[in-house]
Amino acid sequence: MKKEEIEKQLKKIKEEVINCKKCNLYEKRVKNTFYPVVGEGNHQAGIIFIGEAPGLQEAKTGRPFCGASGKILDQLLESAGIERKDVYITNILKDRPPDNRDPEEQEIKACFPYLEKQIEAIKPKVICLLGRHSMQTLMEKYGLEAEIQGISKIHGKVFEAKASFGKIKIIPLFHPAVAVYNPNMKDELKKDFQILKEFK
Ligand code: URA
Repeated sequence: MKKEEIEKQLKKIKEEVINCKKCNLYEKRVKNTFYPVVGEGNHQAGIIFIGEAPGLQEAKTGRPFCGASGKILDQLLESAGIERKDVYITNILKDRPPDNRDPEEQEIKACFPYLEKQIEAIKPKVICLLGRHSMQTLMEKYGLEAEIQGISKIHGKVFEAKASFGKIKIIPLFHPAVAVYNPNMKDELKKDFQILKEFK
């Protein structure tokens, strides 16, 4: 797909998300004058990172992973020699669940088609799943449900899957937030991120 076509598709998805009223997170966004967090980065990235949902800082700015978890993610990327501008970063939910609660099933169901379209447009070679919600939803999508285990068991493992546009690698990773309150986890995360060096 040509660059202009990808841009056009991503712009369309952004507009759809901005206007989406499929779940009640929309009302909360408007009430709190939050932004939806659609995603950011290289529109032709080989690697895409998928988190859970925007936190407060993200909803205030419209940018994914720009708060405390984002700082950790930046350090992890740096440790693998990857520049943030070269990857694409987004979430399962595009709006912030109140008090950072877990995403609800109906919210995931409503929001997931936007992520599916983003993946179809960007056509990454590697999809990194940050945390268990992302792991569960994406591994199911790519027919890897039999491989699903707790994130502490399968973090850093590379799974092969088939997307409509070709073969992809799926890598579940701990969510960077685990290292916000438990700095010892950062080394574990850094170790996993080193795998990404071969996909840069
Ligand atoms: N946590 C997430 O899962 N996503 C963000 O964008 C920020 C924090």
